[in-house]
Amino acid sequence: MALFRFRGSDKPDPSKVDEAAKSGAPVDSTGSVSPEATADEAGGAGRLFDRFRAGLKKTVQVLNTDVRDLFKQEGRLVDESFLNDLRRALVRTDMGPTAAEEIVKDVYAKQRARFVDPESVLDSIRGTLSQRLDQTDAPLAAAATGPTVILVTGVNGSGKTTSIAKLANRFVKDGKRVVLGAGDTFRAAAVEQLSMWASRIGAEIVRSDQGADPASVAHRAVARALEGDFDICIIDTAGRLQTQSNLMQELGKIRRVIAKQIPEAPHEVLLVIDATAGQNALSQAKGFSEAAGCTGVVLAKLDGSARGGVVVPVTETFKLPVKFVGLGEKADDLAVFDPKRYLEALLADSFGDSAA
Ligand code: GDP
Repeated sequence: MALFRFRGSDKPDPSKVDEAAKSGAPVDSTGSVSPEATADEAGGAGRLFDRFRAGLKKTVQVLNTDVRDLFKQEGRLVDESFLNDLRRALVRTDMGPTAAEEIVKDVYAKQRARFVDPESVLDSIRGTLSQRLDQTDAPLAAAATGPTVILVTGVNGSGKTTSIAKLANRFVKDGKRVVLGAGDTFRAAAVEQLSMWASRIGAEIVRSDQGADPASVAHRAVARALEGDFDICIIDTAGRLQTQSNLMQELGKIRRVIAKQIPEAPHEVLLVIDATAGQNALSQAKGFSEAAGCTGVVLAKLDGSARGGVVVPVTETFKLPVKFVGLGEKADDLAVFDPKRYLEALLADSFGDSAA
């Protein structure tokens, strides 16, 4: 899966891009294939699957225990009580009531009054979820020339700072020069945390005192990216929940100062969502998404809970592609989201050998 797609007229060598797309390898803005991420996401499809599998361990356990238990009762009929039990187990993964209901209906339609067939139930789950996660390849938009600017937003505590660090780390490892803009100036701790990450992963950082205007930090970060010939500029933004109109004003101002320097920037606006935080967090994040005009989601902490099914309602609520998932607290714990590998990891171990 390509990390970048291209914008603007100054397109890279299409044969290289084609080649990279075929191999699933990321390409940079010159059209060259990135070696580090190639091993991870293309040649290393199995590795990506393993990472998802490790991250989704708790969710898989729910499916394994709860759903597999449904099949342990010999001669169990697909009746009302079976369907209720199935629905309960599915909802526990946080895939949302709509997806769970659709699966239950499908199982009912295909197997009503028969004895349960685990394979067919598995097919219903896989079919329904893959349809609902039917997102096209969603690589990051990249500048055709000059720095690519990525704005990152999300509620405090969602994993925004860590996700910025992970993303930056990924680019640095990929040979890119990265400058960060510590625009969440409301919290001194956020600026400190980002500075610490920057020095650890080898990115430059533009920062200001607590309470400084975030738009001025954004301006200086982009200016630094231009003058220093950086490839990537990632800008942190407010994480506090103000009124929606305050938030819109602040983010609007940030966007304006960025666009004054690079008209087509920001190239991406990523919304960080905490996978463990439940429905309330989703509705809070919606405020950020609307205020910021987001283009994609980073789903952080997917490893942290038994609610790995949350990818489904997230995609549906925000109508945005999930571009990356956070699978731990370390700089390397970020993976490009691939619905196919995700579903494989989610369902591979469920039902296991003893399902009969
Ligand atoms: P922010 O307030 O939105 O900037 O959130 P932080 O980046 O400071 O993250 C909040 C907490 O979540 C920290 O303890 C992080 O280490 C942790 N965290 C962030 N991303 C992940 C992830 O993908 N997996 C896990 N397990 N923890 C994470």
